Amino acid sequence: MTHTMPKLPYALEALAPHMSLETLEFHYGKHLQTYVDNLNKLIPGTQFENMSLEQIVMKSEGGIFNNAAQTWNHTFFFQTLTPEQSAIPEKLAELLTRDFGSVDAFKEQFTKAALGLFGSGWVWLVADKQHKLSIVAEPNAGNPLTKGLKPILVIDVWEHAYYIDYRNRRAAFIDAFWKLVDWNKVAERCVMKRYECTACDYIYDPEKGSPETGIAPGTPFEEIPDDWTCPICGLYKDAFKAID
Ligand code: MN
Repeated sequence: MTHTMPKLPYALEALAPHMSLETLEFHYGKHLQTYVDNLNKLIPGTQFENMSLEQIVMKSEGGIFNNAAQTWNHTFFFQTLTPEQSAIPEKLAELLTRDFGSVDAFKEQFTKAALGLFGSGWVWLVADKQHKLSIVAEPNAGNPLTKGLKPILVIDVWEHAYYIDYRNRRAAFIDAFWKLVDWNKVAERCVMKRYECTACDYIYDPEKGSPETGIAPGTPFEEIPDDWTCPICGLYKDAFKAID
């Protein structure tokens, strides 16, 4: 399959002055475009030809991995920025406080990791299988999917991400990044949603689970087995709708 450039949820000039039009023209329009083009040149005739981008990231190495992961990472990075930042949703703030002590402590640790990563790479907020959040720094094209971790937020600290606007001042770029993070998107990736049965109004709350039907507290709705049924009316999972 042919991989394509991701659509951006904002105009190229919309992130200024924190991230200029020129930076977006180069970072999105040239750097990312080159990774996408290289990937499309490298995969024909290989086992990766018909895989999804995520599958290629998980299974490849060398040049194909580098270009696939850079495509995935940049797509995720650009899609987590917004010119219209809103406050951190309360449930996300609770998770960050649970795992880092406070929202400010999380931002400090993330900033420190982004400043401290030597050379080119990415600093990620990730969730493990138990939904615990942590920060991982990956050199070059590194992507935490390859370690079984779920990406929640990322900052690109390659020099090409900031050299036009901030020259060598990575710290100034990180400050600007914090003004552009789309906290609602971040929350969508790690806050567990409640689901309501459309037939009987039973509400599945992941914090409580459904011990009477064998679902432990802390189980996200998405991880409940498909043969599970509503404890009240007996309908299957596909009769449920997210309500958060
Ligand atoms: Mn980049």
